[in-house]
Amino acid sequence: MVIEILTLFPEMFSSPLEHSILGKALQKGLLNIKVRNIRDYAFDKHRQVDDRPFGGGSGMLMKPEPLAAAIEAVRKERPGIKVYLLTPQGKLFNQSMARQMASLDSIALVCGRYEGVDDRIRAHWVDGEISIGDYVLSGGEFAALVVIDVIARLIPGVLGDEDSCVEESFSDSLLEYPQYTRPRNFRGFKVPDVLLSGNHEEIRKWRRRESLRRTLERRPDLLDYSELSEEDKRILEELKREKKRIG
Ligand code: SAM
Repeated sequence: MVIEILTLFPEMFSSPLEHSILGKALQKGLLNIKVRNIRDYAFDKHRQVDDRPFGGGSGMLMKPEPLAAAIEAVRKERPGIKVYLLTPQGKLFNQSMARQMASLDSIALVCGRYEGVDDRIRAHWVDGEISIGDYVLSGGEFAALVVIDVIARLIPGVLGDEDSCVEESFSDSLLEYPQYTRPRNFRGFKVPDVLLSGNHEEIRKWRRRESLRRTLERRPDLLDYSELSEEDKRILEELKREKKRIG
């Protein structure tokens, strides 16, 4: 998969892309990331990339010409590429969006700066708008890195067995069950017996129940999107009754 990044701060990507899972994905050639400096597409005398907003107001906006030229260059090199603008006004990024994006051959992520980008770019030059959360960052670079990290984990071969994402939180719209490692007893806090039992079926059942419990307690909204079996629904009813009893 190819990810094109359009940014005014290419150097912000060097270190995060060198290490750990992203670094390995790039080394193995499972992911190819190309970082372009939007300023290289500013063709006026001063290579200006920002300007004051019409109608007044504080701050500067990213000018449309360099952005459009950069996006057009990417589209020319990679016909069919999907171009996404990072913006707090975009669709909230989640695991299912990530899965959909990970299935594409190539995507481009456009990072805004200043007070954002001229709205004509948003309206006519991109295929989608992504927000990573209901807060405002200073620029799209960290948002792009979040998106890249989430997508990379979903590309076949990027995670080894030991890092597998199959049962992670959100993989089936549920939060993950609690996990423990050694020691069995840490300062008096013990690992649940069932996990030490060696009984795989009992462990599977316990994990599913705890996954449902966590989701019900912390993110009940996710249950609306989860694919629940009849058994899951029965467990959820039980958990709700348990919760009412305990209060
Ligand atoms: N004035 C803009 C607004 O209110 O919508 C915010 C501009 S913000 C300071 C500068 C850039 O940071 C944006 O153009 C966008 O690329 C990026 N950004 C900020 N918050 C973001 C978020 N929650 N998700 C994705 N990108 C974000």
